[in-house]
Amino acid sequence: MSRRPGVPELVERARGGEQLAVARLISLVEDGADAALREVAAALGPHTGHAHVVGVTGPPGVGKSTTASAVVRLLRAQGRKVGVLAVDPSSPFSGGALLGDRVRMGEHAADDGVFIRSMATRGHLGGLAWATPQALRVLDAAGCDVVLVETVGVGQSEVEVVALADTTVVLLAPGMGDGVQAAKAGILEIADVFAVNKADRDGAAQTVRDLRQMLAFGERGAEDAWRPPVVRTVAARAEGVDELVAALDAHRDWLDRGGERARRRRARAEAEIEAIALEQHRNRIGDLRGAVGLTQLAERVLAGEIDPYGAADELTARLGGRAL
Ligand code: GDP
Repeated sequence: MSRRPGVPELVERARGGEQLAVARLISLVEDGADAALREVAAALGPHTGHAHVVGVTGPPGVGKSTTASAVVRLLRAQGRKVGVLAVDPSSPFSGGALLGDRVRMGEHAADDGVFIRSMATRGHLGGLAWATPQALRVLDAAGCDVVLVETVGVGQSEVEVVALADTTVVLLAPGMGDGVQAAKAGILEIADVFAVNKADRDGAAQTVRDLRQMLAFGERGAEDAWRPPVVRTVAARAEGVDELVAALDAHRDWLDRGGERARRRRARAEAEIEAIALEQHRNRIGDLRGAVGLTQLAERVLAGEIDPYGAADELTARLGGRAL
């Protein structure tokens, strides 16, 4: 029987670029066991901060997987190491037939400079917020120069992933009423780069014009402000992908020049600490509900003896006397 390697050994092997070690570490953080999360985070900490994290988002069918694959191909040709993390916040399954696998099963399967993983959050409260930053750290420590984070679906998940990315690409396609949709979803504000994919189809020029018009409308004055470029791509034929990658690199350089990257990373670290602390408090209240008299407090609220705010204050005071 082979021995199960511990976290420090897995981290060493992941840093050496070993695919299996990277996969195991990501599975560990995805499982979400508190002790494992702590151990992985502690071991990875000193080895992160290098990767350029690029969020890729847009409506289903717009070409995210196809684009990700074409971008990976180009980055590999340039000699860069790449990670792809496909996140499905709604699916209870993981490691299976998700988006990332469509990329994984293709041309990059045998390339040891490409790390591809799908993750689902299994309905954990704040699951995406927990596991995704850790998985990004694993890929970062494994030496990825660029990590693409791809989301399935719409809405909240996009916003969460954006909060994790240094640079966010929003994909649109002609003829889907995307311009209007995008504006509605607040996508215009989150995009650092736009790609109008399926530019081989009718209406691409119109979509580009619409977007540029909307962007010009919202433009603010500052001389050194970033103005999101609109790139036309035909991902299925790898057209426009070099322009797209150049736009991603330009945005990274802009982030570095003005100190914006450091600011974004600090804000992310703050949000992460806050999320972890909130989760710990929630768990603690759950664990100690008997000891701190949560049920009695509830009875008193129902009896009108105390209001819920007063009860919460009392709960906090009682928790305060107990170590984590
Ligand atoms: P996702 O759901 O956003 O990941 O979209 P996919 O990458 O799976 O692409 C959805 C469909 O659009 C697939 O059938 C692709 O082959 C097709 N597709 C992707 N890019 C292009 C493109 O540039 N032009 C055209 N005509 N089809 C494309």
